[in-house]
Amino acid sequence: MSNKLDSFSLSSGMEACLSLERELNKLLVRFEGIKDIGHNLLDTAISDIKTLQDDLGNVPEDQFLSSEQVERVKSVMMKVKSSLAKFGGEHRELHSALSKYGKLIDRNFVADYAATSRPNIFNHPDKVGLINKIICQHYHRQGMHDVAEALAEETDVQYEFTEKESFGELNHILDCLRNKDLEPALVWATAHSQALDNINSSLEFKLHRLKYIELLSKGTNYQADAITYARNHFRKFVKQHEKDIQVLMGMLLYIPNGINTSPYSCLVSEELWLDTYELFTREACQLMGITVHSPLAICLNAGCSAIPALLNIKQVMMQRQVGPMWNGKDELPIEIDLGPDSRYHSMFACPILRQQSTKGNPPMRLVCGHVISRDALSKLCNGNKMKCPYCPMEQSPGDARFVIF
Ligand SMILES: [Zn+2]
Repeated sequence: MSNKLDSFSLSSGMEACLSLERELNKLLVRFEGIKDIGHNLLDTAISDIKTLQDDLGNVPEDQFLSSEQVERVKSVMMKVKSSLAKFGGEHRELHSALSKYGKLIDRNFVADYAATSRPNIFNHPDKVGLINKIICQHYHRQGMHDVAEALAEETDVQYEFTEKESFGELNHILDCLRNKDLEPALVWATAHSQALDNINSSLEFKLHRLKYIELLSKGTNYQADAITYARNHFRKFVKQHEKDIQVLMGMLLYIPNGINTSPYSCLVSEELWLDTYELFTREACQLMGITVHSPLAICLNAGCSAIPALLNIKQVMMQRQVGPMWNGKDELPIEIDLGPDSRYHSMFACPILRQQSTKGNPPMRLVCGHVISRDALSKLCNGNKMKCPYCPMEQSPGDARFVIF
């Protein structure tokens, strides 16, 4: 599961956490200090009172206290009073430091995210249904099938039963691959051999290659096994992977001295396992008809990356009084790059109006081949003629063609 957060949101969030932690540690030291002082003051006061009690206890009831004893009572009372006053003072100071810490938390973290979200987006029951569905899917991916099923029942989520099985099977195979157990992956790939062929996949070959290399790495005792394995499994891949198979055969020469020190050492590296693991995830997901990453995790990570930028722009927009951040448009007020992993489809930004194309304002290809948005096209029209702003070829706007990406 991808948990990549944008470095910006991470670093600014981390900085805030670290500075708060530093302040918290200072506060904790003060807490410890006041605890010690408090204990000392109370212990002394209690022992003073006890000694006084013992002294006065010896005085018979019908006898007045001597002036010396009265003085002692007064002195102990004064001392206890001043101790309590001192303790009270320390406590007040601590309390003010504690309330400053609360303000520090408010300053370092934003509490109001209302401006960055559009709650009305989730008003429609269909949308709520979609959210519940991706949450269920996410639980299935994590192997928490009972939670997913309970949620599906409570929220009436309808999804195919095979999803649960697919995720269960996928998770099991990937767990085994992580522990370098190739068997379940090989069984799956063999069962789906035809489908993998149809998408021009090299997964099955790469799994067999790992198995073969595993045998080779065991030394001369397994040489015959490796050769038999190659004979049984590589034949059908000769056309597509001739060069790779030649390389694999070359490895046989180096068994006695160890593959690790041979020119083929890169084939026994951890990287090959990682590559195959990733390939399996991608292609198995494609065949099972599920996304490689959980849609819920993708949305959450995209949101985490976008929020700091949106909060900054909110500040600027409020200062300049340019109205609410969302003007009913289906578009963010600024462009936020989430990186190549989060790009799913092509989009077109009009070079004239500098706006992303929409259904209402699609990209249009001019006769000369330049593409601009429909709004820009109608602005450039002069009667039944227009000049391309780039070449500048004169043409009729009616000849422009609608472009679909
Ligand atoms: Zn042109």
